[in-house]
Amino acid sequence: MSQLHWFLDDEKALKRFKIIRELSQQFSNRAALHDTDSSFPHENIAALRQAGYVSWTVPEMYGGLGLSLYELLAHQEELAQGDGSTALAIGWHMGLFLNLSATDALPEEVFAEVATTAVQNGWLMNSCATEPATGSPSRGGRPQTTARQVEDGFLLTGRKTFSTLSPELHWILITAGIEDSEDVGEFLITGNQVQIVETWNMMGMRATGSHDIVMENIFVPHRYLVARLKPGEKSPRNRDGGGWMLHIPACYLGIAMAARDFAVRYAAEYRPNSLAQPISHVPHIQEKLGQMEMKLLSARTLMYDMARRWDRASKSDRPTLRPALGTVKTIAVQAAMDVVDLAMRVVGAQSLSRSYPLERFYRDVRAGLHNPPMDDVVLRMLSEAAVNEIQKTRNSDSRLPLF
Ligand SMILES: Cc1cc2nc3c(=O)[nH]c(=O)nc-3n(C[C@H](O)[C@H](O)[C@H](O)COP(=O)(O)OP(=O)(O)OC[C@H]3O[C@@H](n4cnc5c(N)ncnc54)[C@H](O)[C@@H]3O)c2cc1C
Repeated sequence: MSQLHWFLDDEKALKRFKIIRELSQQFSNRAALHDTDSSFPHENIAALRQAGYVSWTVPEMYGGLGLSLYELLAHQEELAQGDGSTALAIGWHMGLFLNLSATDALPEEVFAEVATTAVQNGWLMNSCATEPATGSPSRGGRPQTTARQVEDGFLLTGRKTFSTLSPELHWILITAGIEDSEDVGEFLITGNQVQIVETWNMMGMRATGSHDIVMENIFVPHRYLVARLKPGEKSPRNRDGGGWMLHIPACYLGIAMAARDFAVRYAAEYRPNSLAQPISHVPHIQEKLGQMEMKLLSARTLMYDMARRWDRASKSDRPTLRPALGTVKTIAVQAAMDVVDLAMRVVGAQSLSRSYPLERFYRDVRAGLHNPPMDDVVLRMLSEAAVNEIQKTRNSDSRLPLF
């Protein structure tokens, strides 16, 4: 294992990782400011563009690097150690390219256009599907955004909430109910067609620019209707089992790693005058530091293991990984919240200080609970997968009793 990164051993990947580490260090200097103002870190996005990062997950045939999921997670974790908001925001764009490459969900010429503009112009992309009435789109509610068919295309009207990266989006994937039909369309629109309403004022992940976007009769030509789904039908983007969404646990684990580093440094250096040595020598502090290490190591090992499995899996096997990939997210977010909590207990009352980053980490990791997949969905998927598997083998495995 490399000293630079526990899970990365490929030389080219490590070289890229060094670039990301440098950027992450720069981002950490501005993170508190953007958090306070809930302002969008445009300069961080510009630096990521300048470094070419925004094209690293674009397939090689369009000029990108065709990065693996495994390597992407290392960079995303590292960015989150500097600024969680920047990592989550750019993570959607980076992950979407993996998702679209793995699923062929866009018509080829449309994907070529999106990919080429990411490489040549640094144009960014996200999927904005959440609405006030549907809540999480993963629950399957019909979007209230409407698409009215007109000659040559559609007119879209509606409002999306939680639109991360909105101040920098060029391409936006939008879901809309198609008028006079039960179908739902997935459309590709451009950032300059929408109005951004700056509503994002949450306690955590304040610099993600996850504002509302409003569409009023915006015209979308037929070629940008990228999928038309019957009620209950899943988007073609679901074909890959959701590996790309591991950018979410990578982000929250990165925040937790930053909290760990802060607490360890504090424990190694802080010596109140009641002690002859720094608090890192006190048994209850050692126990907390040990627990933080254990939680991080187990959650990260699971995440990188599943990423490797997803990278190596065939297209037809990837959907079967969905429950295990969801498990990574649930376990990682819980571990991240536990680690930040332990870090704050190690530091004591100073952890509450606005002069230190721990209180921001505490607010930021909490947002992970509300990114997909939700915990109840993961548990249901695991339960269904276990029952299905046992039912399939009940006649062939004589160790299992028949009830
Ligand atoms: C930092 C951040 C960034 C985000 N970025 C994006 C983005 O870029 N694009 C995007 O589209 N979305 C984004 N989201 C939105 C996210 O994907 C969810 O849609 C959003 O958080 C709402 O989810 P929810 O579970 O709170 O809401 P709801 O679905 O309204 O759920 C509220 C409560 O009701 C329960 N509930 C609701 N419906 C059901 C059901 N059918 N079955 C069981 N329980 C149910 C939930 O478990 C929850 O307890 C982001 C969210 C956050 C926090």
